[in-house]
Amino acid sequence: MGEELANTVRKSTVENKKEVLSSVTVTEEKGRSIAIPDAITVKQLAEILGLGVAEVIKKLMANGIIASINQIIDHDTTAIIAADLGYEVREVEKPAESIKRAAAGAELQPRSPVVTVMGHVDHGKTSLLDAIRKTNVAARERGGITQHIGAYQIETDGKKITFLDTPGHEAFTAMRARGVQITDIAIIVVAADDGVMPQTVEAINHARAANIPIIVALNKIDKPDANPEKVKKQLAELGLLIEEWGGDIVCVLVSAKKGTGLRELLENILVVAEIGELKAVTEGPASGAIVEAKLDKAKGVIATVLVQNGVLKVGDVFVAGEAFGKVKALFNEVGKRLKNAGPATPTVILGLSSLPQAGDTFQVVSDERHARAIISKKEAEKKAETVVAPKLVSLDDLFVKVIEGKLKELNVVLKTDVQGSIEPIRDSLEKLTTEQIKVKVIHSGGGSITESDINLAYVSKGIVIGFNSRLEPGAKKLSEALGVDVRNYDIIYNLVEDMRLALKGMLEPIFVEVIEGRTEVIAIFSVSKVGKVAGVRVSQGKASRDAGVRVLRQGKKVADSEVSSLRRFKDDVKECATGLECGVGIKDFNDFLVGDILEFYRMQRSNQA
Ligand code: GDP
Repeated sequence: MGEELANTVRKSTVENKKEVLSSVTVTEEKGRSIAIPDAITVKQLAEILGLGVAEVIKKLMANGIIASINQIIDHDTTAIIAADLGYEVREVEKPAESIKRAAAGAELQPRSPVVTVMGHVDHGKTSLLDAIRKTNVAARERGGITQHIGAYQIETDGKKITFLDTPGHEAFTAMRARGVQITDIAIIVVAADDGVMPQTVEAINHARAANIPIIVALNKIDKPDANPEKVKKQLAELGLLIEEWGGDIVCVLVSAKKGTGLRELLENILVVAEIGELKAVTEGPASGAIVEAKLDKAKGVIATVLVQNGVLKVGDVFVAGEAFGKVKALFNEVGKRLKNAGPATPTVILGLSSLPQAGDTFQVVSDERHARAIISKKEAEKKAETVVAPKLVSLDDLFVKVIEGKLKELNVVLKTDVQGSIEPIRDSLEKLTTEQIKVKVIHSGGGSITESDINLAYVSKGIVIGFNSRLEPGAKKLSEALGVDVRNYDIIYNLVEDMRLALKGMLEPIFVEVIEGRTEVIAIFSVSKVGKVAGVRVSQGKASRDAGVRVLRQGKKVADSEVSSLRRFKDDVKECATGLECGVGIKDFNDFLVGDILEFYRMQRSNQA
């Protein structure tokens, strides 16, 4: 099925991109039978199946499909994956809402843009957001005092713009890494007296990696030492060519302090938004993202959500990450109660059962029973999940890129101890580019490897290469959780040589590891002359006598060997299916512990190699 399936997915991804279903409807679930809509993202599928996203991505990989968290997969593919996991798949029974939508031909409608402000520290991001907020005539008319809720909406020339009020690229990319991209346009703030600084470069690279348009706000032009021309030149050196210089980047001179240029900035945001033809489904159950959430002693969980599609109403039941709730009340940023909220509207909601995380997606579901079912599955899976996320791209298995098809680009985040090392290393790396594979350094900088670097590599399906660069503890943890490959070198030759060999390996026939099954050790037996045998229950897939097997303990690999015996009751068997129990002996391994996970795998020649 491999290649054909992979093609189907690619095709459907492109065709369906514009028709992302606003919400997934789990109509009914009886035993192991589930209903799945025509097109669904990997993340949504994971939610329906109650699995971790990594698990689903792995399953897809096992079938030769490389899909990212937000990629849409079609019904046939979904059915195969679900069937693999022991589910029977039914066509989704179209809920009244979507029938209505279809009948009315409710296509995507224009919506207002969502903007994030990024840039170097002290260049005026917060001041600019505050200054823009003050222009909010609508808020003043309503007599309300704007509160910080993580996002706000303003109106200019009868059109609305939503600003995310958590400035900085860290939050922006962390959100993307969690699976949501809610920003349409990035405003890069550069202080005209200070010019391009390291975080300016980071912000630009993060926006570029997200593939969203950039508008430059040259701030602090009121200052006597402001030198906008110099900054424009610096930007050009980074490849950001402004309109005035024949490029397509809008650059607006502003002063957050004096309020200069703000109107022009807003007008330009609207123009850029118009070019982007931003659209959303404006009817039906809502879906979107959590922007911010906090616990209030009196009110419980207060969450700011951004509706991306559909309409969120009081009384709606929804799931947000691992939390669920029923919308008790909706408020806007001036504390006014709302009955409902449509796309691009930031809204504060009350009624969540527990605290979701910023960047969690939320989705309105039919009723509380389904919400609870989805959550408890997620929780159970999280407990069982001990496997380290698969490395999406790794120097060891760059085959991923091959399977991905024509686009063969290796994205690299490069961090070095001193700024001076960047140029020569970047040059050497980019020179490794061949006709088949392009090596692209999407971001480089001096200093340690941070969480932000890991997130950027993750969302860009790239790797991080350090040269004498410290890997911060938080970044190390994150890289393990997300499965981002981080390599650190202290000799340039080794760095370049490793990359060269890895890229070469990429062009040769490749074997792909296919995970066939997972089992949990529930008891341990001593068998004379044989040694220790693990009594296991097959939680996913199957256990096979002739497969490779790995022992995982708290996510760490403690052994990697072959199956030496597989028994069900007293019989030797070739396989043992999901849900069943069996005894497993592993060659040269005796140190089982209850709770260990045995992962059965097989090496298969890649379809496209
Ligand atoms: P952020 O770190 O990017 O959020 O920067 P802030 O908004 O906190 O601003 C940093 C400093 O620059 C503050 O002292 C601001 O008052 C000042 N500042 C911000 N915008 C302007 C401006 O347009 N003109 C002048 N003169 N100062 C500004």
